Amino acid sequence: MSKIVCVLYDDPVDGYPPAYARDDIPTVRQYPDGQTTPTPKSIDFDPGELLGCVSGELGLRGFLESQGHTLVVTSDKDGPDSVLDRELDDADVVISQPFWPAYMTRERIERARNLSLIITAGIGSDHTDLDAAIDNGITVAEVTYSNSISVSEHVLMMILALVRNYLPAHQWVLDKGWNIADSVKRSYDLEGMHVGTVGAGRIGTAVLRRLKPFGVHLHYTDKHRLPAEVERELGLTFHPTPHEMVPQCDVVTINAPLHKETEHLFDDELIGTMKRGTYLVNTARGKICDRDAVVRALESGQLAGYAGDVWYPQPAPADHPWRTMPNHGMTPHTSGTTLSAQARYAAGTREILECWLEGRPIREEYLIVQGGTLAGAGAHAYTAGTQ
Ligand code: NDP
Repeated sequence: MSKIVCVLYDDPVDGYPPAYARDDIPTVRQYPDGQTTPTPKSIDFDPGELLGCVSGELGLRGFLESQGHTLVVTSDKDGPDSVLDRELDDADVVISQPFWPAYMTRERIERARNLSLIITAGIGSDHTDLDAAIDNGITVAEVTYSNSISVSEHVLMMILALVRNYLPAHQWVLDKGWNIADSVKRSYDLEGMHVGTVGAGRIGTAVLRRLKPFGVHLHYTDKHRLPAEVERELGLTFHPTPHEMVPQCDVVTINAPLHKETEHLFDDELIGTMKRGTYLVNTARGKICDRDAVVRALESGQLAGYAGDVWYPQPAPADHPWRTMPNHGMTPHTSGTTLSAQARYAAGTREILECWLEGRPIREEYLIVQGGTLAGAGAHAYTAGTQ
């Protein structure tokens, strides 16, 4: 029998379950590339429920306990006295979400003598030391595509919120004002602007497709060029490097994974090459931007706005400067954990567990590390030896 340790974010402060705003969510069976949404044998939750918090348990308890496995669910994940650290020594599986990541360091991986599977309920496994997973024969899997469209919608929302100065205008309403000049003195139309994405994978391409009807000029940079027909269809301008792209843009959105090439890519130097008043939206990973360089650029006006939902570390401490810097539109890490996304990645987590417990292969597209090497989606997104 296996022991599964699942690290999830805290319940809502006003209790669980919440009063839901809607009674159901649309059913999505296929992603834009033709990949099917998760196909577990069954699920024990109603799609649209809050599953990503401790009481939601990713809908896994009935399924695991009915087979005699042990499920430990906690939000207490950091520091040597944390529940995660106490439960790790004999854990077979660790599950966490990037929104509230269990940082699976080499030390933790090597101490967990039974550990054989680490699941990211969501996308982006940079919180796991992949080299340590490779060295210790551990499988790492994530639920590829489960929340890519969710994030792309968040990116669009944030671009519009910054460019149109939505949040300060809304604040005037909350403050009982009718301050039109104050609200519009930083408000522009997106139409006609040059918008570029660093990374044109699942999320980046979805962002480009959604931006097309806004009448903007679209740019991208990526390690691999998109097919010529996609470039033509969307009217894309390709740039070989971020350094060549960002000076051309009014808005830049980051949609690349965190690895050695992208860590602190947006530093004083790169931001200094952008046009004064560029907007930067980062829903990829906090560490792709130099924390203090972003603050300095907002204070000087080099950046007109910064928004995103990814921070380092997570949860961000109360004194993290991104909470108080000017002209920001930050959220906690929420873009990929809408109730709609949760239904997909909870089902995907169940699918991965069903496969692992029954000795069946896990879908290739869900694999990051397997058999002592990068595998599946991981072989595409990451480079061994660079974590
Ligand atoms: P994909 O792997 O589909 O796309 C990532 C793209 O980035 C790939 O096309 C890749 O290139 C490209 N890329 C990698 N390195 C660079 C680089 N140095 N410069 C330019 N492009 C680069 O991933 P997704 O679109 O699904 O997700 C992207 C990232 O978004 C994830 O890694 C994750 O960190 C983050 N994410 C955030 C979420 C949130 O809730 N905020 C949720 C889900 C993901 P190529 O493959 O051609 O080599």
